[in-house]
Amino acid sequence: MPSIQLKEPWELAQMRDNGRRLATLAVKLEEMLKPGVSTADLDAVAEETIRQMGARPSFKGYAPPGFPPFPATICASPNTQVVHGIPTWTPLEDGDIVSIDMGLQYGGYHVDMAFTAPVGTVPPRVQELLDAARESLYEGAARARPGGRIGDIGHAIESSVRPKRFGIIRQYVGHGIGRQLHERPSVPNYGKPNTLNLIEPGMCIAIEPMITLGTWKTKTLKDRWTVVTADGSLAAHFEHTIAVTESGPEILTTLERQLS
Ligand code: MG
Repeated sequence: MPSIQLKEPWELAQMRDNGRRLATLAVKLEEMLKPGVSTADLDAVAEETIRQMGARPSFKGYAPPGFPPFPATICASPNTQVVHGIPTWTPLEDGDIVSIDMGLQYGGYHVDMAFTAPVGTVPPRVQELLDAARESLYEGAARARPGGRIGDIGHAIESSVRPKRFGIIRQYVGHGIGRQLHERPSVPNYGKPNTLNLIEPGMCIAIEPMITLGTWKTKTLKDRWTVVTADGSLAAHFEHTIAVTESGPEILTTLERQLS
């Protein structure tokens, strides 16, 4: 196996700029999440915003072998949908949760991020689910340090989630990112420390825990994209694109310049 493609400083600079662009969009979409708004409304704003930046939506038309081209700019996955939901005109209701996953390509480089937010008010256990999923992302991201291994990230995510008795999706995992939307290595949300690929400066990875109120098992709907929980439990998904630097992880898809 060839080694993982490491990014040059100018490539990291481009991905850093792209990360800020995508984070700006995420803030805009999160502000729109109110009862009565549809995920198709969010999708229209996302596509317009990305194109105004001179960038291209990474997901629209994306067609891995065996899949029809993804028809939208964002993946919008309400409630029991885990990932890859297709935006619809159905208005969101008070008490829903919705996961928004988005990616853009600019200057030849992709960035990818996701968040799950409540629409109106949600029960305490549902808020705990969202908090646990977000927290596990940051726990995982903190382990993206030179000299560590990819298994350290999954282990940190798993150790953060397990005591709270949420399910961790196993079939879908994080990934390397850069010239391609999905590059090696795979970044599982579970695992053992000191296993899998060595983490090196110049690596860019998307870390994306998917957490449920119930099972880790999923099924895919007839549209071949939408992934739902097998037991109909609610699911949350958070994702950042992260650059590994000499001094540690740098979260690219944020408006704050975070070094942990
Ligand atoms: Mg991703």
